[in-house]
Amino acid sequence: MANSLLHLLCLSLAASSAAAVPGHAAPDTAREEARSQPQPPEANVQAPPSRKAKNVILFLADAGGVPVINAASLHGYGEPLRLRIQHWPHLGLSETSPVDAFVSDSANGMSAIVTGVKTHNGVISQAADGARGTRDGAPTKTVLEYAEEHGLLTGVVTTQSIADATPAATYAHSNDRQKWGEIFPQAFAPRFGDGVDVLFGAGRKKIGAQLTAAGTSFEQIGRSIGRPIHEKLADVGAAEKRPVVVGEDMDARAATLKALDILQRSPKGYLLVVEWDAHTDDPQEGLQHVVDFDRLVAEVEKRVDLKDTLLLFTADHSFGLQVDGGRRGGELLEGYDAWKATNSKNPMVRLKNVLVNDTHTGEEVPALAIGAGAERVRGYFPNTYLFDVMMQAWGWKPDGAR
Ligand SMILES: [Zn+2]
Repeated sequence: MANSLLHLLCLSLAASSAAAVPGHAAPDTAREEARSQPQPPEANVQAPPSRKAKNVILFLADAGGVPVINAASLHGYGEPLRLRIQHWPHLGLSETSPVDAFVSDSANGMSAIVTGVKTHNGVISQAADGARGTRDGAPTKTVLEYAEEHGLLTGVVTTQSIADATPAATYAHSNDRQKWGEIFPQAFAPRFGDGVDVLFGAGRKKIGAQLTAAGTSFEQIGRSIGRPIHEKLADVGAAEKRPVVVGEDMDARAATLKALDILQRSPKGYLLVVEWDAHTDDPQEGLQHVVDFDRLVAEVEKRVDLKDTLLLFTADHSFGLQVDGGRRGGELLEGYDAWKATNSKNPMVRLKNVLVNDTHTGEEVPALAIGAGAERVRGYFPNTYLFDVMMQAWGWKPDGAR
């Protein structure tokens, strides 16, 4: 915010000094008159035209709300505001609710971000005219589908199951997030373009079981699409242009950097979506994930050209974590080891400085942005606006828009 204000100030100073150049100067009287007339702010400071993005990277911290981002800095660095993303210039607060409730799950939360349409909890990128588990809603077109249609390369990376609600919302449409046997194959039956080009995620055993129940398998799908579905990132051949890896788990840093290497070869640009779990039901695990995710974001930021790339960081919904004690430089998670040793299943976790209520919560989540088109991220908005931010960064209109 301070940076952009400074930038605008510089622009207006530059404009007034240009007017003072000999030969271009207005007569003194006219200038005095212009000065004395009250001007609306827009007339005084012209925002610089926003730059078009060639590439968009969406970083999704699953359950990474404002309190989690704050606590991650305290946990990782003993001080607030130490995360790289907390230094990005553009910030908004994104409202995440589904159409019929106050609190969102990952399915509705991510569907709204990537399609611009809110729906019911549990529903993957379908409109609210359906019902979870019983009736399909109209499929809502995702930014990944738009990117495919425009000939961009696309990638989805997650630490979670690749068929889980958050990654699924980018490439699939289903009336129930549990239907992995139906969701996963949709990654290879695209409605637009040739489908997701780079797909790296976890969940191999569970997806495999659901594929078996649906009468298919990784091997069968791999053969039919001519792309092996690897078990490990290390198995991807150097010549593979559209690799698929479904492991038991996934190293998000290695996967993201590998995906970026491939996608950055695209002459028309790319969309990369990276999800990292940030649920803090285990506060140490969850907060460390955010610290590590932030380091990865900083690394990616150095590898891209922000003049033609939009980086967006947000969450699908918030989470019940509160910092209510502790001292700068001290240990945020004091008492964690003792709590962990009890193996407690109580959804309320009381550490010395941190209180966890193991559930999603309804307050807005941060949306942070840097790069081409980032200045559109500001103020409070429904999460569906983030779809517009990405589309407008590319300069695309959604189908049906005038
Ligand atoms: Zn979630």
